[in-house]
Amino acid sequence: MPIDITDNCNIGYLCTEKQCYIGNGNKIAFRWIDLNGLVKDYTFTELHTESSRFANVLKNLGYKIGDVFFTFLPKSTEQIISFLGSLKLQLVTGTLFSNFGEDALLDRLGNAEAKVIITKKSFLKKIIKIKEKLPRLEHIILVDIDDHLSESVMSYSKLMNAADITFKVEMTRPDTPSILHYTSGSTGKPKGALHAHKSILMQSKTTEDILQLLPDDVFWCTADQGWVTGTSYGIIGPWSLGISQIHYAGGYDAEAWFKMLAEQRVTVWYTAPTALRMLMREDDSFFENWDLSNLRCIFSVGEPLNPEVILWARRVLGKDIYDTWFQTETGSIMISNRPGLEIKPGSMGIPLHGIQAAIVDDDGTLLPSGVQGNLCVRPGWDSMFITYFNNEEIYRSKFKYGWYWTGDTAKIDEDGYFWFMGRSDDVINTAGHLVSPFEVESALLEISEIAESGVIGVPDEILFEKVVAFISINKNVEWTRDLELKVRLHVSNKASSIATPQEIFVIDSIPKNKSGKIMRRVLKAKYMGADLGDISTLDI
Ligand code: AMP
Repeated sequence: MPIDITDNCNIGYLCTEKQCYIGNGNKIAFRWIDLNGLVKDYTFTELHTESSRFANVLKNLGYKIGDVFFTFLPKSTEQIISFLGSLKLQLVTGTLFSNFGEDALLDRLGNAEAKVIITKKSFLKKIIKIKEKLPRLEHIILVDIDDHLSESVMSYSKLMNAADITFKVEMTRPDTPSILHYTSGSTGKPKGALHAHKSILMQSKTTEDILQLLPDDVFWCTADQGWVTGTSYGIIGPWSLGISQIHYAGGYDAEAWFKMLAEQRVTVWYTAPTALRMLMREDDSFFENWDLSNLRCIFSVGEPLNPEVILWARRVLGKDIYDTWFQTETGSIMISNRPGLEIKPGSMGIPLHGIQAAIVDDDGTLLPSGVQGNLCVRPGWDSMFITYFNNEEIYRSKFKYGWYWTGDTAKIDEDGYFWFMGRSDDVINTAGHLVSPFEVESALLEISEIAESGVIGVPDEILFEKVVAFISINKNVEWTRDLELKVRLHVSNKASSIATPQEIFVIDSIPKNKSGKIMRRVLKAKYMGADLGDISTLDI
């Protein structure tokens, strides 16, 4: 049944309080499983009261509609509860990947003019280091201290204990801003894709039509809540329909994951190609240990799903994997495979009913089937981002000739199936995470020994792409193992561990064109041993 938003369009309300009204109060909203295997169930009633309590925490601290709140936590119950609580109060609610380093945090918190953040003690020093550059930041709430450290560094449990469990969610308009996710481009700083509360309509619809979840299903989405899949499908879509979910604290672990699928009787599983490719390294016999009879199907998102993975899953698990395509900006699945539709291994499937996607050339002309071009979507769907926060100009530049330009290239076959071809920019997709070469290059240039840097993504069997850096070092500097370690550590601390180059090459100078732009195409050709193409305009 389509979600009913007539009484209130608030995401926090629809995922919790409304579920209690329609009879799901005693149903398990999620089973939390920690790294030691400890299990704790949260009913929809508990999710509702705890998130209301957190809404009161923020309200008592003086926050009101439109203020910006961020979670900066690993997967945790506090992340989920505070996320929904903040939405109940109609704050702009951002989530940050827990691996982010100082520069990555500063770019995002600074651009968003964040006022309040929830995090943990061991992450505090990263925030303290940049706090002076964040004049709007008023409160830091720590989930693992018993008492407040100061008027601005406060204890989650103490604040929660003092807060009421009843909170009246004010009538929220469909267009009221809701979730803020930052995404990396190939140039400039990361951009904050802002969504509105009505995005829940699409997350709910795709959960019904594509993931095809049913009331008694047990759903598990492995994505981290720092990214769009983790919020759209690890929180909103399933709970808008009152579906029970599994939330597991850990990352990839073949043994733990299959134990979970079997013991928790997961019926629908949403994961990523990198994880599936890692599973393919296990011996076939490993999979005989688990009873997967409850598992109906597997979905995947974030990077191309190679046909071999689909064929492997059919052979070894006896299941189909359905590839889905979407982006931070689209907020929900746009193109996908789904049960009931023939899978063409290697294709992303077809657009969702009501979504018009097309392949166009650089002038906006529609291209015929079989021809590669820009993947575009006709604007107007409910989960479409409403702006890039404090960056309206770049937002507008994404819309041309009546289309939203996704930045991906693809082609359509004669049956209307879409086939992903690549990115039209230099953004690197490593293990389903977009990494900006510019961010890594900037972090590298902060190291005094490095004179120039150029960063590219190159094909990788497991990660789809890996980050590779080319650098030139200053005269009289020797490239040593210690310096290499220093470089890696620096990028990890400043950007994130996923952005840390897997390979670093020291070269005499970085190829640039006459206007000083780094020619990543040339670096890539150099790496791949390919023809360098026309380099007549290059300064090399
Ligand atoms: P993000 O905004 O970080 O979620 O990344 C979105 C990008 O990931 C898309 O623009 C694609 O480049 C890539 N992507 C997402 N899903 C798929 C898919 N099913 N196949 C190929 N690439 C994908």
